[in-house]
Amino acid sequence: MEQAPWQRTAAGAGLLGADGRLAPTIFAEMTALAAATGALNLGQGFPDEDGPRAVLDAAKHAIDHGCNQYGPGRGSQELIDAVVEHQRRFYGIGLGRGDVLVTAGATEALAATMLAYLSPGDEVIVFEPYYDAYAAVAALAGAVLVPVPLAAPDFQPDPDRLLRATSPRTRMIVVNSPHNPTGTVFTEESMRHIVRVAERRDAIIVTDEVYEHLVYDERHVPIATIDAARDRLVSISSAGKTFSVTGWKIGWIMASPERIAQIGAVKQYLTFVNGAPFQPAVAAGLRLPDEHFDTIVQSFTRKRDILARGLRKAGFQVHDARAGYFLLADAAPLGVEDATDLARRLPELVGVVGVPLSALARPSRRDLRSTLRFAFCKSDDMLGDAAGRLAGLRSALAPVV
Ligand code: PMP
Ligand code: GLN
Repeated sequence: MEQAPWQRTAAGAGLLGADGRLAPTIFAEMTALAAATGALNLGQGFPDEDGPRAVLDAAKHAIDHGCNQYGPGRGSQELIDAVVEHQRRFYGIGLGRGDVLVTAGATEALAATMLAYLSPGDEVIVFEPYYDAYAAVAALAGAVLVPVPLAAPDFQPDPDRLLRATSPRTRMIVVNSPHNPTGTVFTEESMRHIVRVAERRDAIIVTDEVYEHLVYDERHVPIATIDAARDRLVSISSAGKTFSVTGWKIGWIMASPERIAQIGAVKQYLTFVNGAPFQPAVAAGLRLPDEHFDTIVQSFTRKRDILARGLRKAGFQVHDARAGYFLLADAAPLGVEDATDLARRLPELVGVVGVPLSALARPSRRDLRSTLRFAFCKSDDMLGDAAGRLAGLRSALAPVV
């Protein structure tokens, strides 16, 4: 069967099933496996505890007070104002109301941005391993994915490799810091280098900062604070992670009014508008006092440490996570070469689900083959339970003699 151009890019990124269609995402696959086996789901990144009561109550209040129909195309004024205030309060960034567009999660923000700017054959730089949607949406836009490897132990981009990966066809560089799945935070030096490379190729920088409030031992510094980045920048964030409401799918884009207009023109034909009653609720969340944001960091630091200890005790080599929801755990010290195979067997071996890292990279990344990604955005009890179960992995893997 003849392949459409998008299928070639999707195939290169390992996203197609045997039938030539986009396969179910690794997150959906692993959540289904957890549901089918009753295993603890440390695969897909979603919390099992509710976020702040004030945010949940604000959504209920909005539903009870008639906020249930299509809202304005750019998003509710309340949320736009709250995003503007949030950027000034946390980062000293001055935005106007025309610099913000509300979207159905960061995923739609990304899709609308890529569809607005990419033409068939354009090249998109991503840092690998990468969140799967980057590859899928780049493919749907007909673009060519150009992965730049991030490698252990620090997963910072290599400046020369980045430069060498670009070409006159480079149209976009997608930056995700704090990074899913490695938990790395790009240094300021790395970000300045990315900006210089983007300038040289006249490329747009798309920055996905959905984990901005989940940075554990330092402060998040958005690329938007680098003046030279401003003109070529599309910044994306979302409420899902910060307020533990991943099912609400409220995200936002921050860019110049011209770019907002260009991306908004696409967004109107993707979802038109979205999540009317959740928008004022997220506005309330963004306006919560500092203590709330400090509490998120403290509680996720504790969760990260519980799981990291458990994984180390179980025999994995665990990479430090400076941010985000996830820990990378290399199973090579347990004698495992293929983490994809281990991920499928893990429920039956110890009753836990994780995601094989190679699902978020090209098959050629052999250095990632034995590594799993585990989510720690779960209750302390569940993480303790998972740690206890994983402690039995070594003996479960041992051949029966
Ligand atoms: N970007 C990254 C790096 C993610 O991990 C996720 C998944 N939560 C998203 C984007 C999607 O965010 P949303 O649920 O707001 O669409
Ligand atoms: N971002 C979440 C993760 O990385 C999953 C989102 C999804 O299932 N598409 O686990």
